[in-house]
Amino acid sequence: MSALSGLTALSESLLEQERLYSSGVYNKRPVEIVRGEGALLWDVQGRCYIDCAAGHGVANIGHGRAEIAAALAAQAQRLITCPESVYNDVRARLLERLAQLMPSGLQRFFLCNSGAEAVEGAIKFARLATGRPGIIATLRGFHGRTFGALSATWERSYREPFAPLVPEIRHVRYNDLAALERAIDDQTAAVLIELVQGEGGVHVADPVYVRELARLCQERGVLLIVDEVQTGCGRTGRFLACEHYGLQPDLLCLAKGIAGGLPMGVIALGERVIASGRLTPGTHGSTFGGNPLVCAAALETLDIIEREGLAERAARLGQHALQRLSALQSPLIREVRGLGLLLGVELRTRVQPYLEALLERGVLALPAGPNVIRLLPPLVISEEQLDHALDCLAEILLQAGQPGQPAVTEVTAESHPAGSEAISGGASAEQGAEIELLYRMVSIPSLSGQERPLATWLAEYLPRLGLRTSLDEVGNLIATVPVDPEVAGRAPLVLLGHMDTVPGAIPVTIREGKLYGRGAVDAKGPLAAFLAAAARLAKRGGLQRPIVVIGAVEEEAATSRGARAVVDRYRPYACLIGEPSGSRAVTLGYKGRLLVDGRVVRPCGHSAGPRQTAAEAAAAFWERVRLHAEEWNREHGGSSPFAALQPVLRSIESGQDGLHEWATLRIGYRLPLACSARELRAELERWAAEAELAVSFSGEEAAFQAPRTTRLVRAFVQAMRAMEIQPAFKVKTGTSDMNVVGPVWGPEIVAYGPGDARLDHTPEEHLALEEYMEAIAILERVLTSLAQEVAGRGEDEER
Ligand code: PLP
Repeated sequence: MSALSGLTALSESLLEQERLYSSGVYNKRPVEIVRGEGALLWDVQGRCYIDCAAGHGVANIGHGRAEIAAALAAQAQRLITCPESVYNDVRARLLERLAQLMPSGLQRFFLCNSGAEAVEGAIKFARLATGRPGIIATLRGFHGRTFGALSATWERSYREPFAPLVPEIRHVRYNDLAALERAIDDQTAAVLIELVQGEGGVHVADPVYVRELARLCQERGVLLIVDEVQTGCGRTGRFLACEHYGLQPDLLCLAKGIAGGLPMGVIALGERVIASGRLTPGTHGSTFGGNPLVCAAALETLDIIEREGLAERAARLGQHALQRLSALQSPLIREVRGLGLLLGVELRTRVQPYLEALLERGVLALPAGPNVIRLLPPLVISEEQLDHALDCLAEILLQAGQPGQPAVTEVTAESHPAGSEAISGGASAEQGAEIELLYRMVSIPSLSGQERPLATWLAEYLPRLGLRTSLDEVGNLIATVPVDPEVAGRAPLVLLGHMDTVPGAIPVTIREGKLYGRGAVDAKGPLAAFLAAAARLAKRGGLQRPIVVIGAVEEEAATSRGARAVVDRYRPYACLIGEPSGSRAVTLGYKGRLLVDGRVVRPCGHSAGPRQTAAEAAAAFWERVRLHAEEWNREHGGSSPFAALQPVLRSIESGQDGLHEWATLRIGYRLPLACSARELRAELERWAAEAELAVSFSGEEAAFQAPRTTRLVRAFVQAMRAMEIQPAFKVKTGTSDMNVVGPVWGPEIVAYGPGDARLDHTPEEHLALEEYMEAIAILERVLTSLAQEVAGRGEDEER
């Protein structure tokens, strides 16, 4: 069930907005970053992170630099926009400065706005200067997402959906001179490489390869384009990675860190390109390219990099980090690579769970392909901060396979002594494994939005119990009992539990037959019981309809993204929601919910005057809400908590700035079945208009109650009676995923699971193992009887 503080609720509604309105092309991490300073970032809840991502390698000079803010403010007041079709003093200074920083021979520049645009332009200039179409790029190379840059990028999944791409661009093995030699022909305009492949897994170019590659390009009249979008601006321990190799390319691309975090790309043009005489007016251009605002930021950034010796710092800290990482003795690590502060740790497994475990420890790092962890911190990171980040990385890599950690090794009941000891009270091997499952699930932290490590662990572990697993697009775990093909099309039994918990770590222990830990009751106990019962049926086989267990994400976050993602995917024969009802009861209904935010703003007046203040107006609005609920409950017989309309004042604040005074309030409603949220909203809007108060609504969920007369309830009653248990029925005053799926999936639904719901969200959260085992036994009977039932007409139509 959901418990929201005002702050998290507000933040959730902002996250929801981003989810609703952003394109969907980013794999977002569950953090909302609002502030940065140096190598530190803070999220909306004030939690601090060490930034080892630097905004994908952008924030080389660190976050929150006052010098950049001042340069921008000053330039913004002078002149922001000024295309390159006229001259500009700031741009002129930047061009001169860039010329001083480049290898000799690269003395002219095209200014643009991003890395991809720089690569795109470099490809165009190479074709223009040589009059030839061919571009040779490398395996694992990454150059951006616009068409030319994308065509040179190697990763298939980025390229293929957009075919046909730019022709005459091919890929050869990296660090393989012979392959390159074979690929160059009389149609080749240029070879395009990164000196350290960043996105492609942090692979460093071999010096002999680079030397010979440059010679080959010279000999065969082919241009050499070096993409320093990620390696430039001090990142690798020199201002340019080219300097490590004494390399003088024909075209060099910069972006990311060049303008202190503002968007800018640079193409440096060598003599062979200029001497072609083909870069004439009109052949290329960019409206924003070289605008004075960004040029001012770039000048300031270059000053900072030089003044603070950031390239040297990257070299020193990078060396230190490489040494520490190379000394790690973890069976997970395949190789450690890097140059300066562009570091990669290649694992023998997928890195995603480890990145999430790092995030939980307050370290933001990046992947580079599926199995490389990439560290790309701001170059201003302190030694202590870097060491702390490395400590965290070491901890998760060395502890992998321990309880609570993403596992790569075989996980069995025997491998976990605490679990085996705790269950050695005459329990069968099957029961031992079921308690082990619960113990593991509770041990892996899984706050809302951070369920991935648990989901991944379950996906790897459950096949050993006979279940098929996958993760869906939002991160829900889907575990199914294998069935014969002729049964697969029938309406399934869907067991929808949730993996996420509220915050508050509780050490996971088993004492006196009770398992303590966050989520033991809400709702890993119920979900583990679902999985264990499904596994029992999988072992037995012969089912007449599919069984799907879903470990959903974000139930506690009120966004219920997990449940929303599956609601249209299934049309279940019957559904069980995993919430604690106690093993001897089923929950038939949940109340609904509505959040109301109000805001009133007034011009300041004399405090002694007769008029109502903003704070009084907000308080009067709340009073009206309260009285209305009292009246509604009298009229509708809302005396029981389930039938009552219950508003709660969650926050009320006011303030003023000398000109205006304002007040805000937040009200949370628990809605009974008999109250229509639509009518209530209309009423609230009317009162708000009268009080000159602006209102908005969120988190709306209708109440839902299933009848007692369904085949699902019958199955529970029979199962419990067969075990000499008198079944009980409950309704709850909170909300659950039943509110999301109930209105669509219909009456064959109950919530069920072991555990005392009064322990939800408390520091004492624990589950009696005997009750857990009893719930599994009841579920086994319920599922067996439903899975054998012959459906009525129309009940099995396919979705
Ligand atoms: N080239 C390299 C080497 C990069 O690492 C990137 C981005 O990660 C790009 C090009 C594309 O840069 P942008 O995202 O600014 O278009």
